[in-house]
Amino acid sequence: MTGDVWFTPFESTGKTDALHRRVSMMIHRTGFFDALSAGDRVAVKIHPGEKNNITYLRPSLVRAVVAQLLRRDASPFVTETTTLYCRERFTAEELVSTAAWNGFTTETLGCPFVVADLGTDVVVDVRGRYLDQVHIAAEVASADALVVLTHLTGHPWTAGLAGSLKQLGMGCVGRKTKADVHLSTSITINPDLCNACGKCAAVCKSKAILVGEESASLNDRCVRCGVCVGSCSQGAIGYSHDYDWFARALSEAAAGVLSLFARGRVVFVNFLTDITWHCDCEDFSDSPVFPDLGVVVSLDTVASDQASADLVNASTPLPGTRADRPEVAGSTDKIMAMTGIEWWKQLDHAESLGLGTRDYNLNTVKS
Ligand code: SF4
Ligand code: SF4
Repeated sequence: MTGDVWFTPFESTGKTDALHRRVSMMIHRTGFFDALSAGDRVAVKIHPGEKNNITYLRPSLVRAVVAQLLRRDASPFVTETTTLYCRERFTAEELVSTAAWNGFTTETLGCPFVVADLGTDVVVDVRGRYLDQVHIAAEVASADALVVLTHLTGHPWTAGLAGSLKQLGMGCVGRKTKADVHLSTSITINPDLCNACGKCAAVCKSKAILVGEESASLNDRCVRCGVCVGSCSQGAIGYSHDYDWFARALSEAAAGVLSLFARGRVVFVNFLTDITWHCDCEDFSDSPVFPDLGVVVSLDTVASDQASADLVNASTPLPGTRADRPEVAGSTDKIMAMTGIEWWKQLDHAESLGLGTRDYNLNTVKS
């Protein structure tokens, strides 16, 4: 099986050309729009960026897709789940506030911005190697169709690559499944190094750290998000991660989400712009490390991420950036050389689960 993937370069050749138009054209060519019926509730999944991040998906690109859905008499809503980690998208109120801060509101989008996991998760059996069940965010589960808009980045902590598969397996699921996937991570506090300063407890919104007279300790509320690690100047908090586990559990969570939709009812749009070393969950601004390459569209999450990664790996890193080092720039797998993580394992496992194929046809749509 070979996946059909459409790609358009970022640059325009004339003043009348627009990336928005070519993105809509590519979605149309997948057949996704034609499969919609009037009134279909279409979830448009985005990552609105963490507070202080400035390289996330551009709101006007989301609005352009929403406009196309409205033209077809669908009923779109833009959506995202709250986070497992405790930054500024941890609660529903914080997520709505951060999304608005970053430019995603009902007014700017032309449709409602909805917190996906406010309602009760829908649970599906997957019987995978790592997950038995997947808890899917209520608003995603109740949609008739799904548009996954992904700002593709590196992901140096866990996945290596943050693409459409990660949007499904982490971004569309409830906290139970997010936590299950993070069982791949282990957090420890070394009492010999800890001075009981309490800084870690101050950043942990899960209230998972107890600070005693001489040292801190973890309780069972810890969801292994890793946010506290950077708060400790004593190096007392240990972090270890089973990358294989994470990649495969992530794919199984994605399988659970896709099991709710018929083929052709989910389309993946990967934006290869402002490509940073880290993902949009980071709460700081940073330089992109690869040039703006373009946009990839497919009905196949595996093919879309594989094609996107291949385009990044074939590009030349931006001068002076973290990727512009001989060991990265000279590598055929720049994403792995940059993050140190075998990012392709998530795609490999997803392919074995029948979610798509790493073998694809690339159809280029020129401006
Ligand atoms: S921040 Fe580090 S030193 Fe301070 S209480 Fe937490 S683990 Fe201990
Ligand atoms: S203690 Fe656990 S839940 Fe709290 S910030 Fe650290 S890793 Fe996250």
